Amino acid sequence: MIRAVKGTRDILPPATDLWNRVEQQARAVFHSYNYHEIRTPIFEETLLFTRGVGEDTDIVTKEMYTFTDRDGSSLTLRPECTASVMRAVVEHRLDQQAGQLKLYYMGPMFRRERPQKGRFRQFYQIGAEAIGSEAPAVDAEMVEVAAEVLRSAGLSDFQLLINSVGCPECRPKFVSGLQARLRAVAASLCSDCRRRVETNPLRVLDCKVPGDQPVIDRLPSILDCLCAACRDHFDAVLALITDRGIAFELRPRLVRGLDYYMRTTFEITHGALGAQNSVLGGGRYDGLAQALGSKVRLPGIGFSIGEDRLLMTLQEQAGSAAQEGPDLFIAPLGEEAFRAAARLALGLRRAGVSVEMALDARLKRSLEVANKLRARYALILGADEMAAGNYQLKDLITGDQQTVSRDELFERLRARHAG
Ligand SMILES: [Zn+2]
Ligand SMILES: [Zn+2]
Repeated sequence: MIRAVKGTRDILPPATDLWNRVEQQARAVFHSYNYHEIRTPIFEETLLFTRGVGEDTDIVTKEMYTFTDRDGSSLTLRPECTASVMRAVVEHRLDQQAGQLKLYYMGPMFRRERPQKGRFRQFYQIGAEAIGSEAPAVDAEMVEVAAEVLRSAGLSDFQLLINSVGCPECRPKFVSGLQARLRAVAASLCSDCRRRVETNPLRVLDCKVPGDQPVIDRLPSILDCLCAACRDHFDAVLALITDRGIAFELRPRLVRGLDYYMRTTFEITHGALGAQNSVLGGGRYDGLAQALGSKVRLPGIGFSIGEDRLLMTLQEQAGSAAQEGPDLFIAPLGEEAFRAAARLALGLRRAGVSVEMALDARLKRSLEVANKLRARYALILGADEMAAGNYQLKDLITGDQQTVSRDELFERLRARHAG
């Protein structure tokens, strides 16, 4: 028996109904902020991610699915999408369009993580990128879009954590001071952090190992080391977010695992998965385009939602939902009625009504199936109904049965979707 590969899973109905609803609502939110969808390939040249994500990040060193293609080139299944979006923007010169470039994406990403609750090796992200401006207003709108997508999905009681990680002007000074402090205590840190002290000291700040926390708590805060320009930018972002009525918590330890992040960085967490768990991460990446070889500087900011974790949270919030049944189940009585029913079903389906047809000629059996499928209405179509040009419509919740004309039938069923 062949099974799904470890760390991957099938997402089955009725869960897929919820996934689709979340994605449709996210699209509606993106549309309302004038975002348009971009679809990039699932695999890219490996170099895109070693450069764009950072050679000494866990993603690149431990988690990528990299393979050699038949022509010898090194390809990698995308572990995230921001580098791909920026590659596409530079490749197609999308930055030359008027105004800000506002793009969103949704789809699978791949990382060989240790399997655990809510973590999959093929996982899904919904994300957005706004490219072309470093104005604080763009950061504030991005945070608002992120919160609106989660709100529209039905997530309640989430927390926004925010920080600034400075710029190439002020961050190196902070990092070298941090490194000096960390070298003195390196022996007491976890093995990953001992390595990070030399490769990427900033990342020690977001280590989750409990034994490291007392040391990390005493480390200096990057917010005390921002240059004047970064300080002003961050203050302006916070003022605009406050204006928009969005509550936030400052988190000086919030540094993201990716090297191209600059200035604003944020995360949204929710408590339903046990401990406070991150469902969304985002930040500004003004240095990314140049890291990928662009001659022009293309400032940008974006976020991505871990869709698997979001869906798990929504399911915990709502309890398990039963699969939604069709709007109508048609039970034709006899050969001729069956053909008429098929034509009627086509008309209804084109009007957006979900219709299932009986495969069994016995009415009692058909109505049992209609109930099992959780159909909303059943329609019985026999010789009498066909001669009279009307239908017997049975409400499967109340048990009422009514004679309705074709127009009334369409009106009643379409009304289910209007509301
Ligand atoms: Zn700075
Ligand atoms: Zn550690």
